[in-house]
Amino acid sequence: MPDLKAGFAQVDITPEEPIRMGGYGGRDEPSVGVLDPLMAKALAVEDAGGERGVIITTDVISFDLDFANVVLDDICKATGLERRQIIINSSHTHAGPIFGIRYQQCWELTPEQIEVIERYNKRVRQRMVEVVADALADMKPAELSWATGSTSFVMNRRKPTPTGVRNAPNPRGYVDRSVPVLRVTDPAGRLRGLLFGYACHNTTLGGANRMISANYAGFAYRYLERQHPGMQAMFLMGCGADANPYPRGTYDLCRQHGEALGAEVQRLLEEEGQEFQPVRGPLRIAFDHVDMPLEPQPTPEHLDAMRKQGQYYAKQADRIQAMIDSGKPWATHYRSPIAVWQFGEDLTLVRMSGEVVGDYIRLIERTIGPLNLWVAGYCADYFGYLPSARVHREGGYESHEFITGFGFLDVTVEDAVLSKVRTLAEKAGRPMPDTK
Ligand SMILES: [Zn+2]
Repeated sequence: MPDLKAGFAQVDITPEEPIRMGGYGGRDEPSVGVLDPLMAKALAVEDAGGERGVIITTDVISFDLDFANVVLDDICKATGLERRQIIINSSHTHAGPIFGIRYQQCWELTPEQIEVIERYNKRVRQRMVEVVADALADMKPAELSWATGSTSFVMNRRKPTPTGVRNAPNPRGYVDRSVPVLRVTDPAGRLRGLLFGYACHNTTLGGANRMISANYAGFAYRYLERQHPGMQAMFLMGCGADANPYPRGTYDLCRQHGEALGAEVQRLLEEEGQEFQPVRGPLRIAFDHVDMPLEPQPTPEHLDAMRKQGQYYAKQADRIQAMIDSGKPWATHYRSPIAVWQFGEDLTLVRMSGEVVGDYIRLIERTIGPLNLWVAGYCADYFGYLPSARVHREGGYESHEFITGFGFLDVTVEDAVLSKVRTLAEKAGRPMPDTK
């Protein structure tokens, strides 16, 4: 008899009217149509002791903390779950709406555009509660197992140049090509659902696109759902902050990459001798916040340099100046949620906030050991990029992003994050390597 139960649900969150689109700074006109639907999907699990956890995957750019807090409150009130038991991951599609509360502030929007976003927010709020309640209502005895494959359309995008690191393909740069897959079957072995991950920006469609799409991630889960009618496939974004699909720019490439990812999951399911390892309970969740150190208040020279980087950064510089002018003391830390979910001795899921650069895969492996490890980035709180110390020192796109209303992460952020991951992994009972 399985010691875990699982439940699935999904709900459509495609915008119903033209809406301003998130992700690319230069795109200032609303969407003009829909290529494929945006979804919110939930996987609920419960162990023999009654501990529950819900993973929600969403085809949106991000869940900022302010909006996530509203949604999490709704979910907790409606279901009795606690915040520590809920993961909201975003696929980071760059062909979806600007939405949320804090993220909205990064953009220049007309009152009418804000109204559209508010209407969309309201709808997503309701649907998120529904999808979690539906997944909990679907809870049935389940066998969980996992395996890891690989696919190679991910490309490092930190290209060294004589004038510093540029955002461009870097074929020799590090990427995480792994495709972790969690398989959920009923006790008779019938496939009920799949959760799979990849560490790559969901940006196959570029900044000129004004059609709504779940990007490559959508093609991947739809591919799998076609192979297994009635089964629910879900995409969990990994640490892909400094990685893009390659090549990119067209809907055909979106399909090609997404179906390559889906086909790799399918290959794992079909391949003779492929060993899916059992994932058993108990589920132990260690949840906390990490106080990430911030750099001191930016200097006038720093703000001048930002103003020269284009409109998006110039506006940021103006907002920072307004913060300085307000006379409020500059914050020393930014506090963000982080968690480790431990399934028996079988699998550790590290749930990271923000856009996490690929270095953290290797750093976390070094910190808590490489075995039975799955690291998800892009979970709410989405605050912007989480650089490693290396990326911070090298500079470039992912190294210094302003956290709206707070500041810039300091180079010591890596130590703060890793030490919290280690503490949480110990607390959750992950079998730890001897690192002495
Ligand atoms: Zn991004």
